[in-house]
Amino acid sequence: MTDQPANNIIVIIGGGAAGMMAAIIAARKGAQVILLEKMNKPGRKLSITGKGRCNITNTDSLREFLTHIDPDPNFLFNIFSRFFSKDIIDFFQQLGINTIEERGGRIFPENVSAMEIVNTLVKEMQRLGVKIILGAPVKQIICTNRNIKGVRLENGTFIQSHKIILATGGSSYPATGSTGDGYKLAAELGHHIRTPVPALVPIDVAGRVAPTLRGLTLKNIKATVYNNGKIIADEFGEMLFTHFGLSGPIILSLSRKLNRIDFKNNKVDISLDLKPALDEKTLDHRLLRDFTQHGKMQAKTILKGLLPSSLIPVCLDLLQIEAKKPAHQITAEERKKLRLWLKDFRFQITGIRGFKEAIITSGGVSTLEINPKTLESKLVSGLFFAGEIIDLDADTGGYNLQIAFSTGWIAGESAAIQNVDE
Ligand SMILES: Cc1cc2nc3c(=O)[nH]c(=O)nc-3n(C[C@H](O)[C@H](O)[C@H](O)COP(=O)(O)OP(=O)(O)OC[C@H]3O[C@@H](n4cnc5c(N)ncnc54)[C@H](O)[C@@H]3O)c2cc1C
Repeated sequence: MTDQPANNIIVIIGGGAAGMMAAIIAARKGAQVILLEKMNKPGRKLSITGKGRCNITNTDSLREFLTHIDPDPNFLFNIFSRFFSKDIIDFFQQLGINTIEERGGRIFPENVSAMEIVNTLVKEMQRLGVKIILGAPVKQIICTNRNIKGVRLENGTFIQSHKIILATGGSSYPATGSTGDGYKLAAELGHHIRTPVPALVPIDVAGRVAPTLRGLTLKNIKATVYNNGKIIADEFGEMLFTHFGLSGPIILSLSRKLNRIDFKNNKVDISLDLKPALDEKTLDHRLLRDFTQHGKMQAKTILKGLLPSSLIPVCLDLLQIEAKKPAHQITAEERKKLRLWLKDFRFQITGIRGFKEAIITSGGVSTLEINPKTLESKLVSGLFFAGEIIDLDADTGGYNLQIAFSTGWIAGESAAIQNVDE
């Protein structure tokens, strides 16, 4: 397929955030680059990131940034020391895209969409002469004696190359093209794959209460997850009830601690503290004051000062307090039940949702088998990894794309400057 000496060619498998960045940097370093993308457009997942706005990175310090990453954040220390948040902001600025900082240090492009980020990367690849082949799923990486020889596409075409960057992403949102192919390709070459599981994903809970409340968003609450009675994680912020369970920002974050739990053999609960700013004593004073001051008001009316209206019938039903009971008739025992419930509205977690709904994948190619300075495989010479295929996953907030861009940059540079024996 190519008439160039294979040693000068870098084949990149996957045209997502990591693959496109790797292509640009390798081409800027003078390499001849072929990008193979299985879909008919590159960057399909990138184009829907950040609700279509693309949260590129985060302004956290390097030390803080690493606390948002699992399971081996230190693997990224060297990489981030060479290409980090300021570098990606400068990179896009040089390509004409300014950025703005929003809540929680999240960086977004200013006035342009995620689609425009994709278009900008594609234009830069075209300017640099990267050969982009679309509708080209790679089926196999050919390797002899631990040296890369080329790739075979699903249609049988062989492309010769001694350097490959594997950037096929994870398994989440498979409709975007990320269907986990890279795990198989890497495993065939001897790499260990930590079992991929959905991450940043909604959760299923038992019972009819959550579906009854579907569509209700709760803000400024604290959610705590218990495994067999032991706290394993907590988060403060916003969540949402759905027809199957719970979703929203803090639930997605908590899901990262849930995705390797055996729900059949463990009792896993989530407790919602609806009044995290009030300790039990202060909350009790507040209830007593309200019930005394507005003694004639019915229970369902007085609760409007404490709860969103769709939650009131659910609360009264769960606590078996009559909706029309005047506040002055609410007993001390009922007030105690209400106080405890407001601080501990509990659900049993029965599982997490699947890859279709997961923002990212946890698991992937073991970092123990990748050189943290070059991103080259320690097992196969000429094979490099970039992006979500590597066993690294992070919270929401721009951390995952920074991982993809930084590893793409370093893999592109390392592949371009490396000499391989043919
Ligand atoms: C809805 C949603 C919103 C998100 N928002 C954000 C956000 O705002 N900020 C953030 O930091 N992260 C966000 N993420 C996560 C982020 O999108 C990913 O971490 C990032 O895209 C990973 O980049 P990647 O290049 O490694 O993989 P991908 O972007 O998944 O790209 C992999 C590419 O490889 C191609 N491919 C797969 N197999 C083959 C094959 N066999 N042959 C050829 N090509 C192949 C795929 O088609 C795909 O184009 C979001 C994810 C989702 C699903």
